[in-house]
Amino acid sequence: MAKMVDRVLASMKDQEKIRNIAICAHIDHGKTTFSDNLLQGAGMMSEELAGKARQLDFHADEQERGITIDASSVSMVHSLEGSDYLINLIDTPGHVDFGGDVTRAMRAVDGCIVLTCAVEGIMPQTETVLRQALKERVKPILFINKVDRLIKELKLTPEAMQERFVKAITNVNRLIKQIAGDEYGDKFQVNVQDGSVCFGSAFHNWGLSIPYMGKKGITFADIIKAYDDDSWKDLKKKAPIHEVVLNAVIRHHPNPVTAQEYRIPKIWRGDKESQIGKDLIKCNPEGKLMFVVTKVVVDPQAGEICAGRLFSGTMKKGTIAHLINAKTQERVQQVYIYNGAKKEIVDNVPSGNIIGVSGLKSAIPGETVALEEVEPFEAISHIFDPVMTKAIEAKKPGDLPKLVEVLMAVSKEDPSIKIEINQETGEHLMHGMGELHLEVIENRIRSEKNVDITTSPPIVVYRESITKPVNESYEGKSPNKHNKLYFKVEPLEPELQQAIRENKIPVGRVKKKDSKEIWEALQAAGMDTKESRQVRDIYNGNILVDGTRGIVHIGEIIEMVMDMFEDVMNSGPLANEPCIGVKVILDDVKLHEDAIHRGPAQLYPAVREGIRGSMSYGSPILFEPIQTLIFEAPAEYMGEISKLISNKRGQLLDMVQEGDSIKVTGKLPVAEMFGLASDLRSATGGRGSSSLVDQTFERMPGELQGKVVDRIKQRKGLKTDE
Ligand code: GDP
Repeated sequence: MAKMVDRVLASMKDQEKIRNIAICAHIDHGKTTFSDNLLQGAGMMSEELAGKARQLDFHADEQERGITIDASSVSMVHSLEGSDYLINLIDTPGHVDFGGDVTRAMRAVDGCIVLTCAVEGIMPQTETVLRQALKERVKPILFINKVDRLIKELKLTPEAMQERFVKAITNVNRLIKQIAGDEYGDKFQVNVQDGSVCFGSAFHNWGLSIPYMGKKGITFADIIKAYDDDSWKDLKKKAPIHEVVLNAVIRHHPNPVTAQEYRIPKIWRGDKESQIGKDLIKCNPEGKLMFVVTKVVVDPQAGEICAGRLFSGTMKKGTIAHLINAKTQERVQQVYIYNGAKKEIVDNVPSGNIIGVSGLKSAIPGETVALEEVEPFEAISHIFDPVMTKAIEAKKPGDLPKLVEVLMAVSKEDPSIKIEINQETGEHLMHGMGELHLEVIENRIRSEKNVDITTSPPIVVYRESITKPVNESYEGKSPNKHNKLYFKVEPLEPELQQAIRENKIPVGRVKKKDSKEIWEALQAAGMDTKESRQVRDIYNGNILVDGTRGIVHIGEIIEMVMDMFEDVMNSGPLANEPCIGVKVILDDVKLHEDAIHRGPAQLYPAVREGIRGSMSYGSPILFEPIQTLIFEAPAEYMGEISKLISNKRGQLLDMVQEGDSIKVTGKLPVAEMFGLASDLRSATGGRGSSSLVDQTFERMPGELQGKVVDRIKQRKGLKTDE
C-alpha cells in the first residue's frame, strides 16, 4: 500500500474526496477519546495511545500525550469502496464563553458529528455547539457514545437499548428542525436506517450503525452478550469505530464543492454575482484566492501557523497575500496540510481543504486572506478591552524564559488576552475578559504548555472620567517656574465616544497625511469644524485639543504635550486607573525664550500637573466595567437565573423562551462576577451556560465610589485620604 503521506497528498487534490468536519459535544462525553480513536483507526496514531490519552496524562511521554489537544486540525485518509478520502477534523473550543471561536470553527467545516453520551443524552453544550453549526449550514450526523455503560451499568435489554436510541434520535431531530428551520431542518434530519446515526463505545473502540449491522450480521443481542461473556474486546475487530464513523462521514457529509454551493449564500455577505462570489460558490481551485483563518497556533519550530479553510483558489508558497481586516500585505512562507496531527509542507493546495499557512504575522483568528480587497468573511468583531488582571509567576525560576515565550504565544492565539510586564516590579500581568477567561488560559498554560505557574487573585480594572466641564483653565508650572501651560477639561460628548468605540474615527496622533479623514470623521460625529481641526491626539477614548493661537514654539513642544496627555490618560488623578471620555484642551502656553529651559524635564511635569489639576475640578468619578451576558438553560431554571443576576447587582434585560430552553440577557458589573461560573453551575444543576455579548464602562453607584477608590489606592501603595 502507498505511504500515508502520499495518500494524503493525492486525496487533497480531488475535491470530491474531501470532507471537512467538526465534533459537537458536551464536555466529558468523550470527544478526545473519540477523535484519538478515529486517528488511530485510520492509521494516523499508534494503537497504545488511542483511547488512553487521558490515563497517560501523568506519566507518559509528553510529546505523545493528548495528541489531538494541541493540534488545530487533524486529517485522516479513509478508504471506502476502493477510493481514498481525506477527512479533515478541526477542533472546536470546548468552552462557549467566547462565542466567536465556535462560529469560526464551524464556518471552516461542512459537516459535524453530534457526539452524545448514551447515559446523559443531549446536554446544553451539545445543543449550543449544534446551534452554531446549523446557523452556518453545517450538516450533522449523530454518534451515541458510551453504549458500554448502558449494558454494564444499566443492564438494558436490547429493546430498552433501542428505545433509548430512538429517544436520543428524536431529540436531536427535533432540535435540528427547531434551529435550522423548514428547508434545512428537513434536509438535515438524521436517520437510523440510512446510517447517519451510529453508536458505540469510543473507550472500547467499537462502533455500529444499522446498515453496518446488517452487512456484518451483528445484532444488539450480540453486543450485550459480548459484555456478558467478557468477549467485548473482539468488538473492536468486528466493528472498528473508525470504519463505521468515517464511512458515515463520507456517505452523509457533503464534499466542499457541494457544500459551498448552498453554504456561501448563507455565510458570506459579498456580491454572489462578482467573480469572487462565483469562485466561492464553485469552490474553484483556479479562482481568486480566499482563505479564512480559524485558529493561530504558535509552533515551536515553524513559528506562527494560521490554520483555516481555503474556500477558493490555490494557496501557494510565496504568495503575497492581503490580510483584509489587518489591512496589511504579507508573504506566505510555507503551506502545510495535515497528515494525522503532523504537518506536511506542500508547494500548493487547491480550494476545499483545511490547511496551515506560515508567514502571516498580523493574522488573528477570523482574518480573511485574499489577493486583493474583497468582502471579508467576518466583519471585524470588536475585541473588548480586557478588564480583569492577574499577576502570573513561574513556580520554578528556571521556567521564566519559557513562561515569557508561552505568554507571548497565548496572546497571539487569543487576541483578547493582553500581556504586560510591569517594568517596576518585573511582574508579568495577564489581562483578560473575566475570571473564567483567565482561568481557561491558565489551565492551558499548565496543561498544554507544561509550565507550572502561580497566579494572584484577579483584580478588576476600572476607568476614570470627569462629570462636569472646567471652564477656568488650570496652570501647570515647570520646575524652573519659567514655563506655564494652561489646561481645561470637559466630558467628551457621548456621540464622539460612541463613534470612537465603533472604530468610526481613526485613532492615534493626528498626522498631516490623514488629517482630512480624521476631521471629517470627527465632524460626522458632531464636532464643529473649527474644533475638529484642533484635535491633535485621540487616545483610548480621550481627545486632546490644541486651543492655542499664535504660539511660536508650539510645533516644538506639542509632541511633549501629547506624551504626557497619554501618560495621564493611562493613569488618572483619582486612583491611577486609565481614563475614558475626557476632552483635554490646551488653552494657553507661556514658554521660556531659551530652548534649553523648555526641554522634557521641564515640560513633562508642567503638562502632567496642568491636566491632572484641571481634572480634579471636573468632579472625577470611577466607571466600572459592565458585561452583558446571555444565559442559556432549560426553562425550569428561569427563576434561578434571574435571582443570580439580581444577587450580583445585575439587571435583567431580556428573557425569551425557545422550545424547552430559555435565553436570559443580563447586564452585570464585572466586580460582582467572581465565582459566576460555579454559581451558575449550582443554580442550574450544571445545565446552564453563559456567553459574553457586550461590554461597556458605566458610572459606579455613588455609595461605592469612595470605598473602591481607597481599595485601589491601598493596593497600589498610593496615599489614601484617610
Ligand atoms: P471530552 O471531555 O469530551 O474530550 O471527553 P474525554 O474523551 O476526555 O472522555 C471523558 C471521560 O469519559 C474519560 O474518562 C473517558 O475515558 C470516558 N469515556 C469516553 N468514551 C467512553 C465510552 O465510550 N465509554 C465509557 N465507559 N467511557 C468513555
